[in-house]
Amino acid sequence: MSGVLRRPRIAIIGAGMSGICFGALLLRAGIDTFTIYEKSDRTGGTWRDNTYPGIACDVPSRFYQYSFARNPGWTRVMSPGAEIDAYFEKVARDTGVHDRIRFRTEVTRIDRTDHAWTVTTADGSTAEHDFVVSATGILHHPRYPDIDGLDTFAGAAFHSARWDHDAALDGRRVALIGTGSTGAQIIGDLAGRAGELVVFQRTPHWVMQIGNPEFSAFNAWLHRRFPRYDALTYHGWRLFIESFSPALLRPGLARRFARWQIKRQLRQVEDPVLREKLTPDFEPMCRRLVISSNFYDAIQRDDVTLVTTGIERIEPTGVRTTDGVLHPCDVLVLATGFDAHAYLRPIAMTGPDGRTLAEAWVDGPRAYRTVTVPGFPNFFLFMGPNSPVGNYSLVAIAEAQAGFMLGWIERWRRGEIETTAPSEAATAAYYEAVDAALPDTVWATGCTSWYVGQGGRVEVYPWTPRHFRATLATVEEDDHLTTGA
Ligand code: NAP
Repeated sequence: MSGVLRRPRIAIIGAGMSGICFGALLLRAGIDTFTIYEKSDRTGGTWRDNTYPGIACDVPSRFYQYSFARNPGWTRVMSPGAEIDAYFEKVARDTGVHDRIRFRTEVTRIDRTDHAWTVTTADGSTAEHDFVVSATGILHHPRYPDIDGLDTFAGAAFHSARWDHDAALDGRRVALIGTGSTGAQIIGDLAGRAGELVVFQRTPHWVMQIGNPEFSAFNAWLHRRFPRYDALTYHGWRLFIESFSPALLRPGLARRFARWQIKRQLRQVEDPVLREKLTPDFEPMCRRLVISSNFYDAIQRDDVTLVTTGIERIEPTGVRTTDGVLHPCDVLVLATGFDAHAYLRPIAMTGPDGRTLAEAWVDGPRAYRTVTVPGFPNFFLFMGPNSPVGNYSLVAIAEAQAGFMLGWIERWRRGEIETTAPSEAATAAYYEAVDAALPDTVWATGCTSWYVGQGGRVEVYPWTPRHFRATLATVEEDDHLTTGA
């Protein structure tokens, strides 16, 4: 083998947080032969799509950022969505990733031919790539509720991820369906702005109301002036968030303490009837814990009504509940969540043996160590099955997954391999370990949520963030089927 490194042609699908992360790390590794396909006209992914009032990250910004491109100037502990969107755009531009993005280019097919992946886009053009990386996001496809009459509503009606900024809200009667992380943030912002806010709750969520202080100019200066201090706070927040792992992963004192802390939050609801309505019947943290700076304050306001009676249908002038009551409204907001199990679908993908990804995943999505799929060589997934590590930062998860992908790509560059895919046996063994670990976790204590996928399988990582990093930092040769260069 000569000392000259080969130049891999890499297709990255999606210019959101994960795609930008990988592009930046490829450039740092001296690889500029990649294309990021982005169907929209901007970067940002979920932070571009979600512009609803009150949007903020529920993970502290000092840790919800790339470790290699930290922003000293975050304005709040948990920054607003627009600021996070601007951060990712800035990183894309500063690193040169932006120049490698093909905007308004939707990938429709990915097919394995003898020696490469052929990527087809909506305009019918094709390109060959040695590697395909899915960075399509986990909460990308809005889930619309299956409620009769939804399309008969006379006023503005929209999903939280498709916010209609032309719809007037101030002083209007707004109906909101859904009280998850998104709904709680919208309620916090609209209460007091809308003339009347009617919240339709099917299932109560556990909510942690915590402050979200602004950072001072001095704080920003400190972080800018002393990068080591900035790095220290990144790791400080990381360790703080990781300290919750024991409560999430196994029964015991830590979980009992967390349960007590979360349950006592409800004490701030003064009206016992309202408190009762807001009390979930499942274990705290089984669903993703809702973090809000003002939910309990907002829901207790006189101009906010919580309706827990089921929805019968939507009518032109409002929402009719099963008790026959019509709740009139001018605007209808659907904070009804996402299909978190689509991954790169609906993109059609066919492997070398003619089997599609949909066929490979007929019993539910599976990926070896969350990243690779048996039978699909040189294909990597960001935020693949079992990627979420509780309320952890998805940015840190993406960085760990990027490291694993880069390890293989570096081997390809050195001419050591031509293709790599995990073996069926290694993937099955991996899932045996996942399935053995899951029952102890809080997510398996009996609740429904977007964490739960096909057949009731919990698609969350059942070990610690440290375990996640360690798992992806090593490449188990024996677990992979490789072909030589
Ligand atoms: P979600 O947690 O899935 O909540 C959807 C809500 O809509 C639930 O309350 C659900 O009720 C309700 N719903 C769905 N269909 C309904 C129907 N037909 N009738 C009545 N209610 C219905 O979705 P989300 O709030 O958009 O949050 C999803 C995830 O996005 C979060 O868990 C979080 O990971 C992420 N997120 C993060 C942030 C952040 O700050 N980083 C902010 C927002 C979201 P049921 O519970 O009864 O199904």
